[in-house]
Amino acid sequence: MQFTHRPFDPHATIAAIATPPGEGGVAIIRISGSQALDIAAKVFSKSIHMLSSHTVSFGKFLNHQGNAIDEGLALVMRAPKSYTGENVVEFHCHGGHLISRHLLDAVLFAGAKMAEPGEFTRKAFLNGKLDLAQAEAVQSLIAAKNTLALKAAEQQLDGKLSKRIKEFQQALTDIAAILEAWVDFPEEGLEFASLEEILETLHRIHFEMKTLGNTFGHGQMLHQGFSLCLAGKPNAGKSSLMNTLLGQDRAIVTPIPGTTRDVLQEDFTIGTLHFRLTDTAGLRHTEEIIEQEGIRRTHKAMANADLVLFVIDSTLGLQEEDLELLSSLPKNKTLLVWNKSDLPNQMPLPEGPFPLIKLSAIQGSGIEDLKELIQTTLWNRTLPDKQEILLTNARHYEALMRSIQSIETLLAGLHNHVSPEFLSLDIRQALLELGTIIGSDITEDILSAIFSKFCVGK
Ligand code: GDP
Repeated sequence: MQFTHRPFDPHATIAAIATPPGEGGVAIIRISGSQALDIAAKVFSKSIHMLSSHTVSFGKFLNHQGNAIDEGLALVMRAPKSYTGENVVEFHCHGGHLISRHLLDAVLFAGAKMAEPGEFTRKAFLNGKLDLAQAEAVQSLIAAKNTLALKAAEQQLDGKLSKRIKEFQQALTDIAAILEAWVDFPEEGLEFASLEEILETLHRIHFEMKTLGNTFGHGQMLHQGFSLCLAGKPNAGKSSLMNTLLGQDRAIVTPIPGTTRDVLQEDFTIGTLHFRLTDTAGLRHTEEIIEQEGIRRTHKAMANADLVLFVIDSTLGLQEEDLELLSSLPKNKTLLVWNKSDLPNQMPLPEGPFPLIKLSAIQGSGIEDLKELIQTTLWNRTLPDKQEILLTNARHYEALMRSIQSIETLLAGLHNHVSPEFLSLDIRQALLELGTIIGSDITEDILSAIFSKFCVGK
C-alpha cells in the first residue's frame, strides 16, 4: 500500500481496485496505460494480446510465482476507445477483499503503478475524452443523493455546461479581437457601430452568465439536499414528528418539557428529494444555561433552514410565545404543523399567512399530506426547470463570478473611455476565468486538487 502521493505522470501505466472495498459478488481491477496489455499478460493465464478490443476472455489470475490467485474475466479496451483514451484492461475477479488485494498486488508487481485518486479520470481529461467540467461531473454523478442531482450531473457529463461556457468564450473572443485591433491601431479609434455592438453583446453575455450563476443556489440544494428544521414550544411533538418522518426512534420523546436540548440531525428522502432534518430544542423562555444554548442554536438552525416546520400542540393552540416567534419567520419558508389532532379539546384553527397542515405525529395521520406539502412548497419556490443547466460545483461558480466581475470592469471601462490596453486585459481575464471551468486554462496544482477529491479507481 502506498501512503504518499506520487506526482502525476501522464505516461505511467496505473492500476487500482475500481469497485468499493468490502465483500461483493465481483471486484474489478482496472489497468490503464501504454503497458496495460503487457502487464495484464503477465498476470492472466490466457493470451491478452490476441484479444481484440472490447472482448472478454475467461482464465486464471496468477501471481509472480505462477500460482493461481483466482479465476475470472479479462476485458480489453484498446486505445483510444476506452474511458481514459489509453489501453485499458479490466480483471473481474471474485469480490473478496483479499482476492482483489492479491490480484492488485500481482498487477503492481508486473509493473503497474498504484493509481492515485481520480487518476483514471485525469488521464481521460488529458487525452481529451472529457473536459474538466465533465470530469468533475463524473464525481458528482457518483455522489448524487437524489434523482434531480443525478440529472444535473448527467447534463454536465453530457457537456451541456461546457457547451454554454464555450458559447460565452466564443462571444468574448470575438470582442477581444476587436479590442485588440483597437490596441494595435489606436489612431483609427473604435467605430461607433462597433462600440454599440460590443456593448450590446457584453450586456447580453453578462445577463446570461448571471442567469447561469443564479442556478448555483438550486444546484447546491440538489447536491447537498434541503434542510428542514423542526421548531415549536417544548412538548408540541417535534421529536415525535421527527421519529415518524424518519420511521425510527432517533429523538428522545418524553412528556417532560425541554428534553431535546441540543440539535439533532438526520437525513431522509421524500420522493426524489434528499432532506436533512434538524430537531431543535423547544423554544420557550428559560433560565437554564444548557437549554438557553440549545435555544440559541435553534434560532440559528431556523435561520439556515430551507423550510421550518413549526409544530403546535392543537389542544393548546397558538399562544403568545408562538406568535412572537412566528413573526420573525419568513412566510415562504414556514409551515404550521397542527399536531395532536387525534386528541379531543381541539383549539380553533388559527388564521394567518402560513400554510397549515393538521396531523397526529403519534398516530401518523396527515403525515403523507405533510410530505406532499413540503415537496410542493420547495418545488414551487426553488426547483428549477428540468431543462435548465445547473451549476452545482462551487469551483465553477466562483470562476464564473470572477469572470462576470471582469466583464463588469470592462463595461465600466468602456463607458469611462478607459484606454484599450486595459479593456483588453479585462476581457482576457474574463476569458481566462471561463477557461478554468472547462480546463482550457488551468494549472497543475488546481488539477491535482480537483482530482485528489475523487476515489481511487475512478
Ligand atoms: P417535543 O418536546 O416538541 O419534542 O415533544 P415530544 O415529541 O417529546 O412530545 C411531547 C409529548 O406529546 C409526548 O408525551 C408525546 O407522546 C406527545 N405527543 C406528541 N405528538 C402527539 C400526537 O400527535 N398525539 C398525541 N396524543 N400525543 C402526542
